[in-house]
Amino acid sequence: MKIKAQFGMVMNLDKCIGCHTCSVTCSNTWTNRPGAEYMWWNNVETKPGIGYPKEWENQDTHKGGWVLKNGKLELKAGGRANKLLNIFHNPNMTPIDEYYEPWTYDYEKLINSPQQEHQPVARPKSQLTGEYMDIKWGPNWEDDLAGVHETGLRDPNVINMEEQVRMEFEQTFMMYLPRICEHCINPPCVSSCPSGSIYKRDEDGIVLVDQDSCRSWRFCMTGCPYKKVYFNWKTQKAEKCTFCFPRIEAGLSTICSETCVGRIRYIGLVLYDADRVEAAASVPDDKDIYEAQLEIFLDPNDPEIIKQAKKDGISEDWIEAAQRSPIYKMAVEQKIALPLHPEYRTLPMVWYVPPLSPIMGAFEGQMDVLDPNVIFPTIDQLRIPIEYLANLLAAGDTEVIKNALKKMVAMRSYMRNVNIGKKNDISFLERVG
Ligand code: SF4
Ligand code: SF4
Repeated sequence: MKIKAQFGMVMNLDKCIGCHTCSVTCSNTWTNRPGAEYMWWNNVETKPGIGYPKEWENQDTHKGGWVLKNGKLELKAGGRANKLLNIFHNPNMTPIDEYYEPWTYDYEKLINSPQQEHQPVARPKSQLTGEYMDIKWGPNWEDDLAGVHETGLRDPNVINMEEQVRMEFEQTFMMYLPRICEHCINPPCVSSCPSGSIYKRDEDGIVLVDQDSCRSWRFCMTGCPYKKVYFNWKTQKAEKCTFCFPRIEAGLSTICSETCVGRIRYIGLVLYDADRVEAAASVPDDKDIYEAQLEIFLDPNDPEIIKQAKKDGISEDWIEAAQRSPIYKMAVEQKIALPLHPEYRTLPMVWYVPPLSPIMGAFEGQMDVLDPNVIFPTIDQLRIPIEYLANLLAAGDTEVIKNALKKMVAMRSYMRNVNIGKKNDISFLERVG
């Protein structure tokens, strides 16, 4: 066993209000300069939606990440040697159009426009070419569109069109998904860099790009399945979220966490067994990858683990931090926080508590008599389909999502009763585990 320490983040999606404060404060702190305008190290996606960059979850289009070949884990877009051979031909690189071309508004039109029938508009001008643009897409474009629960569509028993439309609108749903670099335990951006410029810090697992040695290959952009490496068009270097390491080293939290309006973000250290990483990422069935990732984490309160961690050079401060960390509790002990697309096999370290609000609507009035047996009577009663959340956070395993949501329902019920000073029967907490 070789113990390492790793920073991670849990985001409680139930509390995200989609205000984008995190993205703006991150951008103002780290990417507010020429060449970096289009980079959102932190972005907040409207889901279901095509995300940013466009369709990043479509791994057939974007490539990247790991693939199992004959039981061995390989970079999906080819190994390092292949990449060197293909140096002038990197067909899987995400083009700028799929992020969006940086633009600024030409406010002159507003100021100088003569009186006319319609309001003048500030026209967007490309920062790259200086030309006026006809913008047809941008991040969060689908905020006004939402998705429709399949079960409400085209019910053959409902022939009235008005009724069909009403059903469709009643069953639309949307949610927000804030995203940063996952600071993966098994990061393909690192293994795909021909210059060895991207590295994972041994002491805390933060993944960084050495700006001096970056040679503009951009294979990190291809290799990252989460599409969280960006290319600075001015400096010609790759850039990415740094987990605010200068702040972390000064004892502060990341800027996105500190400024998060919904207080949805939790940061902490976990201990894991580095010797189990390759095996965990290589489990043959996608459905087993979540469990396999859980198994690499180690109990920071176990005396044997503490002894071994010290032997492996982890300081007492770091061990104490891991013991206080909410990440181990929420992800490993309680299993209410889940990794984003674990099937990408990078062992991501940003975990999400699935959103609960839709279920509460379905269970109105039942909070005080919560019975785990009636929590999921039919899938139709859930605003966000369980399958959708399962594909996002559990490699398709709906049971993992149900288990997390049941605990969230129980805890919300308990806290509500505590807050109104009501005598609380906590026996249902035991029933949901
Ligand atoms: Fe690398 Fe971050 Fe992408 Fe993981 S999410 S592959 S650490 S850039
Ligand atoms: Fe969500 Fe917090 Fe970001 Fe607002 S600041 S969008 S609540 S993560």
